Amino acid sequence: MAENVIILGTGCAGLTAAIYAARAGLTPLVLEGGQPGGQLTTTSEVENFPGFVHGVDGNELISNMKAQAERFGAKFAWDRIDTVDFSGPVKKLKGGEATYEAKAVIIATGASPRLLGIPGEKEYYGGNGVTTCATCDGAFYRDVPVVVVGGGDSACEEALFLTRFASKVILVHRRDKFRASEIMVQRVKSHEKIELALNCIPLEVLGGADGKVHHLRVKDSSGQTRDIPCKCVFIAIGHIPNTKPFVPPLSVDENGYFIAGENTVSTSIPGVFVAGDCADHVYRQAITAAGMGCRAAIEAERWLAGH
Ligand code: NAP
Repeated sequence: MAENVIILGTGCAGLTAAIYAARAGLTPLVLEGGQPGGQLTTTSEVENFPGFVHGVDGNELISNMKAQAERFGAKFAWDRIDTVDFSGPVKKLKGGEATYEAKAVIIATGASPRLLGIPGEKEYYGGNGVTTCATCDGAFYRDVPVVVVGGGDSACEEALFLTRFASKVILVHRRDKFRASEIMVQRVKSHEKIELALNCIPLEVLGGADGKVHHLRVKDSSGQTRDIPCKCVFIAIGHIPNTKPFVPPLSVDENGYFIAGENTVSTSIPGVFVAGDCADHVYRQAITAAGMGCRAAIEAERWLAGH
């Protein structure tokens, strides 16, 4: 039998949708994908989620949201959806584990870390010195120099976090102006362990005979190349929305983000809703993702009531 509503994704958007849909008595089935818990599970302290005066650990926030959804009857399973058929009144979603059917679908699949696409990046990715998650891997690089690439809030946050472990953090940014908020830039600039390498374009990740990262090669504004010694390169250059399996039938903009209706969560297909970072290239915050999840669940509930 078809589910009332299937929610794809267990980041802030998916879990908030799950809380609202479950509390409305819809018993949603929530599918956790490649990164259960979403991006907050790779963040350290979340300082700007309302209600937490002294901040909250990202993993703790997510696991509380999941427990809250389960309390109201949300069901959780793991699968990755490859293709969808939204042509009939019952929506079909084909995953690696099973094919699912639902009257309404909320897609909250988030976004994945963008990579540089330079030589050495893939080769050393994971345990050998290239990563996109300081929270996950920072503690492996104690008392050694590390590089963070990027000039946004993520890069600044990662650089600051890594000062807890590394002997030195070199922040490599391709411009001399930061995209990050002023408060983060000031914190980075005033930290004694952080060194800035501005106007530097990463060219290649270089390793040694031990199969681990030893340098990041960059080109500076004068066109010179230089090798920055480091044991790890943390890449923090933004994200790519996880929308591919749904296009078509859904539409995306030139950057791959879902195009939603005026209410920010409805799509061109009745009964299919989107929420969170897969549909929001502007705000991309935990709280805005949660807000979209709430809207999507309310819209799904109204749509189901009318059908
Ligand atoms: P972002 O703001 O899009 O910044 C990405 C950075 O990576 C930019 O500085 C960009 O350089 C650089 N970049 C992109 N492609 C590159 C490439 N191929 N080579 C070298 N550099 C490259 O992404 P983000 O930092 O992940 O932040 C995303 C959103 O989350 C933002 O809205 C941010 O405010 C929010 N966020 C908030 C917090 C917080 O409030 N605590 C923490 C993290 C993130 P250019 O500047 O030259 O384009």
